[in-house]
Amino acid sequence: MSTNTKRLVILGAAESGVGAALLGKQQGWDVFVSDGGTIREQFKTVLQQQGIAFEEGMHTSDKILAAACLVKSPGISDKTPIMKQVRAAGIEVCSEIEFGFRYKGDSKIIAITGSNGKSTTTKLTYTILKNADYDVAMVGNIGYSFARQIAERPCKWYVMEVSSFQLDDIHQFRPDVAVLLNITPDHLDRYDYVFDNYVASKFNITKYQTANDYFVVNTDDQVIRAYIATHSIHATTINFTMSDNNIGNEGGYIRNDRMHIDFEGDNLDMSIHDLSLKGRHNQYNSMAAGISARIAGVRREKLRETFAGFEGLEHRLEFVATVRGVDFINDSKATNVNSVWFALESMKKPVVLILGGQDKGNDYNEIVDLVAEKVHAIVCMGIDNTPIHAAFDNVVETIVDTNSAEGAVKAAYRLAQGNDVVLLSPACASFDLFKNYEDRGAQFKQAVKNL
Ligand code: ADP
Repeated sequence: MSTNTKRLVILGAAESGVGAALLGKQQGWDVFVSDGGTIREQFKTVLQQQGIAFEEGMHTSDKILAAACLVKSPGISDKTPIMKQVRAAGIEVCSEIEFGFRYKGDSKIIAITGSNGKSTTTKLTYTILKNADYDVAMVGNIGYSFARQIAERPCKWYVMEVSSFQLDDIHQFRPDVAVLLNITPDHLDRYDYVFDNYVASKFNITKYQTANDYFVVNTDDQVIRAYIATHSIHATTINFTMSDNNIGNEGGYIRNDRMHIDFEGDNLDMSIHDLSLKGRHNQYNSMAAGISARIAGVRREKLRETFAGFEGLEHRLEFVATVRGVDFINDSKATNVNSVWFALESMKKPVVLILGGQDKGNDYNEIVDLVAEKVHAIVCMGIDNTPIHAAFDNVVETIVDTNSAEGAVKAAYRLAQGNDVVLLSPACASFDLFKNYEDRGAQFKQAVKNL
């Protein structure tokens, strides 16, 4: 197979793939995009307008294996037949953030990863920088892809949400500030069910960092602590924690209900009751965002302002309505057990919990105690609810099965008493009954409005 030294092949034509295609074309690559499924209209239009060659519904080996560099959508696993061929041919494979990194110039990157809290922390960090009048864009899994942003409107700062998949094929990607929020089991199907592989992939975020860069980490997380104890980290590490005894000189901690962010003397000290985002998980997210913004040079008063006024994201512990004394909360984005733990932990009233969907091999043990303490009824919302029954039949008095948002909301409302909360925090992916978690959240909210 002859290789064209400027042939860039992109697998998968969604946000990241199309972004890489645009940047590649702009940088003089001979670009070819291949998508095994149907390309969404909005992306097809962009490719057509830019005269970028593409195919859909197939992967033509000859066209793909001629690549000098291949950018793979984070959704495509190495186990697919085409990726096996690509690997066997020894073609350089990049993730889209790696490709973008090569053309970022002297701009700076704050990259945020973790099993939970990425979107919230990314948006919060971005908002702090924006409120401080920085030339900044929010990129990655939230908003435009990094590559597209560079191609269309380069900025001085990028606040980037990064998933483990995007960290799998990096060769130089080196954020100025890397944030690691937490690591709990998720997506194990993509990592041969080996948790250590997933952990290593998350830590790639700091792999190419140097002592001039910062690595902002949650030291309450046992998995993170264990990894750091056995591996060398080159970046300057800044810790955040709920306890106040192991941060060193600089970092984030909570003492007597006050959040402290200490960095280079301009230290923030703020009551946690003044944070607009509620829940312990959001104190972690706020510390991570605050430290990153301080490293970027934002003064503490701007942090305080944003923390007090920030509106949370849709589908993350989002208050929907109160109907006859019963509060309804939409946490449809809670697609793993750990995020449900934090949701339950922050509930102050008795809970009717809506759980279920596509189970990714959940271990519900982590939440059994909190469920026993706070939940008096579970409404299962999924096609196969056996794992939920197996975990909770002996823990919760009432468990009912439903298979639609409307059915679940009606059942939960029937089971709720005067001062209860109905919490949709499913711990599962949504694809058995819904298009995605946004669709699940939207249908839940509509069903509440119809009550
Ligand atoms: P991600 O982008 O990593 O999926 P989100 O900010 O979208 O994270 O939040 C996903 C879910 O996890 C929501 O249910 C949210 O309430 C919960 N969550 C947010 N931050 C944290 C955290 N630091 N630890 C655990 N759960 C969290």
